[in-house]
Amino acid sequence: MISLTDIHKSFGDNHVLKGVSIVVPEGGVTALIGASGSGKSTLLRCANLLEIPQSGEVRIDDAVIEFTPGGKVGRKDLLPLRRKTGMVFQNFQLFPHLTALENVMEGLLVVLNWPQEQARQRALELLDKVGMTAKADAWPSSLSGGQQQRVAIARALAPAPKVLLCDEPTSALDPQLAGEVVEVLSQLAREGTTMLMATHDLRLAAKIATNVVFLQDGEVVEAGPVRQVFGAPKDERTKRFITTLT
Ligand code: ATP
Ligand code: MG
Repeated sequence: MISLTDIHKSFGDNHVLKGVSIVVPEGGVTALIGASGSGKSTLLRCANLLEIPQSGEVRIDDAVIEFTPGGKVGRKDLLPLRRKTGMVFQNFQLFPHLTALENVMEGLLVVLNWPQEQARQRALELLDKVGMTAKADAWPSSLSGGQQQRVAIARALAPAPKVLLCDEPTSALDPQLAGEVVEVLSQLAREGTTMLMATHDLRLAAKIATNVVFLQDGEVVEAGPVRQVFGAPKDERTKRFITTLT
């Protein structure tokens, strides 16, 4: 069970998330859509606690943290939750001084203290899954954007997270390279990888999402199965948003 409940997040006076509650069904892909500035990235960052909400609850299975204004949550308290997530960023963010293989191994070695050979085997399996075996020893700077993103997906999956968080995974890529990444994400979706994905790309959302959450000004306007939200939106604001983008 993955859920964020009544999440409030402000940056100074800017109240960005105003009591957002979402449930991410296991084995499905939840697309997070909404205009620029609606709070999609902030919500994803709250899900893996790169941002700390002022209040609300973050739950992934048995790992739960309740945030309260003025409450103290230490770094150590965040780790069990953080380790259940993997994150894929718009601009890949591979470690430039490590090869593709080493990028995928890094978290296993440094965070989880896996033995070298075991980490290597796991990383090779994941590079194979994303079609990057031939580039295992390549430096990130020598890879195309699509290739870098596929390595980043392998890296995020390495510790077998409960949920893969993706923030605009294809929007920095031209259509052909985005296609490669969509293929990989579609395959993961078919295999039942639980994902929460912010995207501007409604076609990508329609292709791989099972559920959609529409966020506007830091509030959930509408959430439900993809067919319902895209096919028969209940809220006028959802209708308008979808028509302007399609
Ligand atoms: P986009 O579609 O452009 O990626 P988004 O829906 O992901 O937008 P966020 O990046 O979550 O939106 O931003 C929501 C609001 O929070 C914006 O007003 C932004 O300026 C603000 N914000 C986000 N991160 C920070 C930060 N680290 N410090 C201050 N303000 C921030
Ligand atoms: Mg964003």
